[in-house]
Amino acid sequence: MSGRIAPRSRKETRAAVLESLLRSGGAFRPLIARDTQLTEASVSRILAELRSEEIVEELRRPAPYVGGPTALVTLSNDIPVAGIELSNNRLSFGIGGLGGTVDYVERLPVSPQLRQEEFEQLFSDSLATMRRWTGTRGIAIRQAAFSIPGYSRTHANPIFPWDMERLSGFLGDALEGVPLAITNSVIAQAAFHRYSNVAAYPAEGDHLFLFVGHGVAGVVVNETAPIDAFSPFELGHMVIERGGLACRCGHKGCLEAYTSLRAISTIVGVAESEVLQQGDRFIDLLDLGRDIRERLRERLFLLGLGVGNALNLHPVSSVVISGWPSLMSDADRAAISAGIDESLLGGFDAERLKLSFIAPSIGNDPQAALYYAAHCFVRAGGLEAKAEPQAVLGENA
Ligand SMILES: [Zn+2]
Repeated sequence: MSGRIAPRSRKETRAAVLESLLRSGGAFRPLIARDTQLTEASVSRILAELRSEEIVEELRRPAPYVGGPTALVTLSNDIPVAGIELSNNRLSFGIGGLGGTVDYVERLPVSPQLRQEEFEQLFSDSLATMRRWTGTRGIAIRQAAFSIPGYSRTHANPIFPWDMERLSGFLGDALEGVPLAITNSVIAQAAFHRYSNVAAYPAEGDHLFLFVGHGVAGVVVNETAPIDAFSPFELGHMVIERGGLACRCGHKGCLEAYTSLRAISTIVGVAESEVLQQGDRFIDLLDLGRDIRERLRERLFLLGLGVGNALNLHPVSSVVISGWPSLMSDADRAAISAGIDESLLGGFDAERLKLSFIAPSIGNDPQAALYYAAHCFVRAGGLEAKAEPQAVLGENA
């Protein structure tokens, strides 16, 4: 990764090696050394340490070239992390490994105006169920992550206007010593795409990542910075029509009220819960008539207006969109470029602005939070969360 500053402390060097493995899904030593800007000797020393702690594994593989390395290093599949997401009108709990495997999922429907005390009750109930599951298997969760729309470390949450101090206090108590990170949903989505299928990701370098799901939010991805350093921006709450459609934030005319999955599920006549079940095939399963397609194109146009406005404030030369627009045809998606053309200073020019689309994995919550938890585990160098018996999320823990 060019531009990345060579790591120094023990924690930083461990984190760099682990992040490289999380990103690549497994690599030979020379590649890890190149990626982390460490010497092969340092990499070997760190890997020996991580292997003794059972955080990484080495698998024998045919050498990639004559005389090349034969030990493929991967993250261990036995580091359980927990992901919890508040998204799609449901509270989802999941347990999985660092490599994206999901071993346990529970999803509970919640109201869009979920109150904090209701949340705490539901969370406690779901956590008790999860503990029974981990308890009978003797599993110790090493890192947990909770993603919530509208979350910011510095500002009040407009979507869930809860007392954030109370929230972190509650979660800390409930999770009893398991390291926990709270993040914005779009940051978790960015983690999902950074780590789940690197080869398919269409952008390199700094770009705007836009998630168009149940909510609409963006984040400027800086390729050389860790994901937890990103600041989300709530593009979905850009008012594009004065006195327009009601938004869940309490305002009227927000971009989200026109372009979210919820907004378009009413246009296509399929309940959002049904859409979540059908996942990324949901558009293909529909027989979109001309009128519906036209209405969807109008919504894509509005999305383009919002993107152009966002780029006026924060210019980047590449935008990656994940969400239902990614499932539409090129002809439909031309409406987004047309919208950008009307709002972006200087207009839309494919030479200067790369617009790419990536499959959203609709309905896969809490996979994004699980990837964020994996991210937090590796960022801490695998050091903060030692598996100790008392940290087991067991029934009587
Ligand atoms: Zn809004």
